This record gives sequence, structure tokens and C-alpha cells, in this order.
Amino acid sequence: MSHIADNLLAVQARIARAAQTAERTPDSIRLLAVSKTFPAEDVRAAFTAGQCAFGENYVQESLSKIEALADLRARIEWHFIGPLQSNKTRPVAEHFDWVHSVDRLKIAQRLSEQRPDALPPLNVCLQINVSGEASKSGVAPADAPALARAIGALPKLRLRGLMSIPEPAGDLEAQREPHRILRALFDALVAEGVALDTMSMGMSGDLEAAVMEGATIVRIGTAVFGKRDYAH
Ligand SMILES: *Cc1c(COP(=O)(O)O)cnc(C)c1O
Repeated sequence: MSHIADNLLAVQARIARAAQTAERTPDSIRLLAVSKTFPAEDVRAAFTAGQCAFGENYVQESLSKIEALADLRARIEWHFIGPLQSNKTRPVAEHFDWVHSVDRLKIAQRLSEQRPDALPPLNVCLQINVSGEASKSGVAPADAPALARAIGALPKLRLRGLMSIPEPAGDLEAQREPHRILRALFDALVAEGVALDTMSMGMSGDLEAAVMEGATIVRIGTAVFGKRDYAH
């Protein structure tokens, strides 16, 4: 078995254990394997081991990987999770199934306009800044309801939920804090009638904390593919 297949089993076991602690069913939590900086062959190895949802951060890098794995396109779900500039929205609208990192109406409008008619609506999450001034990316929780409503009106997008990238924190209690903020915002939006089903939160270091606070998608890179080398 490849090290990636081993790692996937270990991550699934962590998800199952955390779900049990939280009294949730493990299949209410999807594993998104974050493959940024890793080659297409590693994605193929993960796919062969049963993984079918992959997260990418960089437009150029992801497009060459999607092309190299074109034979699997119908069976792989590609999620864009990185910062998105407005001049790069077209290839993302054309080649991805999900975008987790929408934090401005302008980006959402472009994605909707550029989404090909032949494809189903693009699934999107609002990236929420749960770390206050410590982080510059993501929309402030107070601004999320208006943005959610505006995005809900765009024809080629389907607003699925919220995403966050908290500042790293050491212990479980500290890790749960920002996830609680996302959870509270999610609950408030749902109470206002916004139909959401996705909380994208939790990475290799805080998966357990995220599952305890209700994550439905955990985005795991290092624990699946290994340590990233940004030199390539
Ligand atoms: C890289 C990345 C991840 C994965 O992080 P790991 O700590 O390697 O699991 C998750 N989410 C986003 C947005 C990322 O950029």
C-alpha cells in the first residue's frame, strides 16, 4: 500500500474517532484531500485508494493537474480553496466543482457569469474571517448575511456554506474557539432562512476541534500527502 493510502486510512480513523466523541455519524464529515504542491501522480494514488474530493490553492498549478487527470474528471470533485483574484476567475468557473474562498461579491458575480451553461451551478462557500485583525482574508462575520443574500441571487452559483482558516492554536480548547464563531454564524444564517449545508473547517492540525464544532468538510493536506515543499 502507498504511504498516501496509509495516510488516508489514518485520517479517516481520526475523523471517525472525533465524530464518535462529538456523537456525530462519521459520514456527516467529508474529507477533502488538499493536494497543493503535490504532483498529479499523488492525486492519482489517493484516488486509487478511494479518495475523490481534492482541494487546490493555485490556479496555474491546479489546471495542469486537472488536465493530467482528465481521464478521472467525471469521478473527481475539484475544490478551489485558495485566494482568488478577479482576473483568474474564468478557469476556476470552468474547471472546478466548488470554490470555498469567496469573500467578495465581485468575485461571486464573475464566477456566476463565467460558469459555462453546460455545467451545473458552481458550489460556493463564503470564506469568513474568524480571527479578527490577525487575518486579512475572509469577510467579517457581520458582513456575511448581506453577502450571502446577494450571492443567493446569482444564477450559476449555489451557496452551500461557510469556510474558515483560523490562526493556528496549540491546544484543543483554543482550536475550538474560532470554529465556534463559524458555527454560530452558520446557525444564525440558517435561522434567517439561508439554506446552507456546509461548514468547511479543520485542517491537519485541528481536525478534531473542527469536527467537535460541526465541520461537514475537513480540508486535510499534510496528514494525507506529507510535508509540503514550496521550492518546486
Ligand atoms: C493548505 C491548506 C489546507 C491544508 O492544510 P494542512 O495543514 O496541510 O492540512 C487546508 N485549507 C486551506 C485553505 C489550505 O490552504
